[in-house]
Amino acid sequence: MAIPLLQSMTIGAYLMKKRLMRVRRYPLVLMLEPLFRCNLACAGCGKIDYPDEILNQRLSLEDALGAVDECGAPVVSIAGGEPLLHKDMPKIVRGIIARRKFVYLCTNALLLEKKIDDYRPSPFFVWSVHLDGDQEMHDKSVCQPGVYERAVAAIRLAKQKGFRVNINCTLFNDAEPEQVARFFDSVKEMGIDGITVSPGYAYERAPDQQHFLNREKTKQLFRDILKRGRGGRDWSFSQSSLFLDFLAGNRTYHCTPWGNPTRTVFGWQRPCYLLGEGYAKTYAELMETTDWDNYGTGNYEKCADCMVHSGYEATAVQDTLQRPWRALGVALKGVKTEGAMAPDVSLDKQRPAEYVYSRHVEIKLHELRRQKA
Ligand code: SF4
Repeated sequence: MAIPLLQSMTIGAYLMKKRLMRVRRYPLVLMLEPLFRCNLACAGCGKIDYPDEILNQRLSLEDALGAVDECGAPVVSIAGGEPLLHKDMPKIVRGIIARRKFVYLCTNALLLEKKIDDYRPSPFFVWSVHLDGDQEMHDKSVCQPGVYERAVAAIRLAKQKGFRVNINCTLFNDAEPEQVARFFDSVKEMGIDGITVSPGYAYERAPDQQHFLNREKTKQLFRDILKRGRGGRDWSFSQSSLFLDFLAGNRTYHCTPWGNPTRTVFGWQRPCYLLGEGYAKTYAELMETTDWDNYGTGNYEKCADCMVHSGYEATAVQDTLQRPWRALGVALKGVKTEGAMAPDVSLDKQRPAEYVYSRHVEIKLHELRRQKA
């Protein structure tokens, strides 16, 4: 099982409390992006296409821990950019663990060997290593040969030192189901604790726009992969069984964007980790002033093909709470990979995309230059 008992029980207690208090919208995972700068330039990445003045910004230790306190989510996923480029990252991680929150530190692992002794194994800490497939798939995805080998060496070192290590894997429309299944077998042999897998979100600023999956292709791809591993039971996923069931086209889910609120150097990002349509100064402002009905598949053109965990895992977790027998059935029998799929959300009433990236960049640059003057 990819999620240890302590973590399952802590998150379960948090969810039950929110349910008993009848809180309608609450966070599950804080997505903390303390910088956008990266030491790779992947073709499918929509986060690194900022001017240098913005790439050079860092969330301070105080702002990072302040975001954790403001939001209150039981899990913090530190993404980026490459978090290991942040000089205060060990202090940020220690501060989050001291709050008894579970930290997933996402990394491409290029700096992991050099920095590993700045961290200690803990039941509250997981290395989440970016690995988009086997050597051929991953090096192609990150546009640089040799990265897979270095990531695997870092994974082995982290396991030897007693850390929990997951991989986070993003799939694109050139993924071959058999190759992905063999890759999942290979990470199991490496002793990986959990796999987080998602279809790539079609970032409008990503250099490669040709290889994003649409919903139909996503569902069929996941069916074709999961059926090669007994409906997914052969592998240890760090995701709920109902989220995997959704990816395989067996659930009609609406997005829960507030489930993974996102704090970046711009502020609290509206509405989700994938879309930067606006920014709030505080978490409370984000929750109170975002028109949530404007977003999600069926509501907004930019959401049409999204099936990413940062939007839908929280929906699957809600479903698990309301209908635990469903989740148990999928966990025991495996994800259904044959037969009719669940109907999809209609796109008839979605509003057209708004292209706001340049405006937000201009506002941020203006703010930075004013601070400097
Ligand atoms: S569907 Fe949800 S998670 Fe996906 S881009 Fe839209 S708001 Fe974000």
